Amino acid sequence: MNTATPPTPRSVTATAPGKINVQLSVGAHRPDGYHALTTVFLAVALHDTVTATLAATGRTTVTVIGTDAQRVPTDATNLAARAAQLLREHHGTDAGVALHITKRIPVAGGMAGGSADAAATLLACNALWNTRATPAQLHALATELGSDVPFALLGQAALGRGRGEILTDLPVTGPLHWVLAVAHGELATPAAYAEHDRLHTLRPADAHPSPQPPADPALLAALKTGDATALGAALVNDLQPAALSLHPALAATLHTGRTAGALGSIVSGSGPTCAFLAADAHTAKSVARALATSKAVRRVRTVSGPAPGAHITTR
Ligand code: ATP
Repeated sequence: MNTATPPTPRSVTATAPGKINVQLSVGAHRPDGYHALTTVFLAVALHDTVTATLAATGRTTVTVIGTDAQRVPTDATNLAARAAQLLREHHGTDAGVALHITKRIPVAGGMAGGSADAAATLLACNALWNTRATPAQLHALATELGSDVPFALLGQAALGRGRGEILTDLPVTGPLHWVLAVAHGELATPAAYAEHDRLHTLRPADAHPSPQPPADPALLAALKTGDATALGAALVNDLQPAALSLHPALAATLHTGRTAGALGSIVSGSGPTCAFLAADAHTAKSVARALATSKAVRRVRTVSGPAPGAHITTR
């Protein structure tokens, strides 16, 4: 029997999916400044990849290629670099790493691309440095990095509570066929929440949102059985009015997709990407063609969901 320790890899590549929030219900402000959220995440087959390569002690470098690469920071603020640093601190290593990110998930599009890169980096560096963090430890580090990072590790579909990081797996039947319309410009998540709060103070009836909104049973049932018609009708995003207020052109985009045959439409997360659910792959293609003619749309993608969470592809 060969008992030798396997050779340490020089390079590890991991991939992680983008997400659509098929339900995003925003509750009350919490004492820590976050909003209480109830959200239903669905991971979709649009992945970023991160290759982590051994580098000089203590050093982290970031290079980025692919979709919108020029809009991604390459300094210590990159969420992937922060993930590597956090793993280092928690596991007492000063190992170096060169992170090479290939972006496919739209940047600042409400699909948690930065969070996907952080999740992929945690897995890749854990294998590269042999730090042996357990899945529970990786989940805890992911939670420290951001509300959407734990779901990028998990993938498939999940109910998110708290600020989105307390996850419960959800049964889901796929494939569900989606069309993504990437809008011009970006929408920072804090700006979307600030606008959401501003709109709510204008409507006193909404001034006392529930501490933790409920998940919609009809939406959960539709996800479980893969009933695209019922899911399309149940899509809900409490941040959508804020996104439309800040990006009025999104209203026309949502209308275009619905007119072209989508079963449901929604602004993804804090926006400005819009997501359209189609009955099948063929309808998704015609919805995509209609959206591609809109001047308000920068790029169109068809994707399916659910998709697996972050995983290592090469070492
Ligand atoms: P959020 O998770 O806040 O909803 P998002 O999904 O809308 O964000 P991201 O693509 O994650 O959007 O990027 C948000 C911002 O984070 C970008 O404008 C960018 O400056 C910064 N950022 C840091 N690291 C990354 C990364 N690895 N990929 C993309 N953006 C990053």
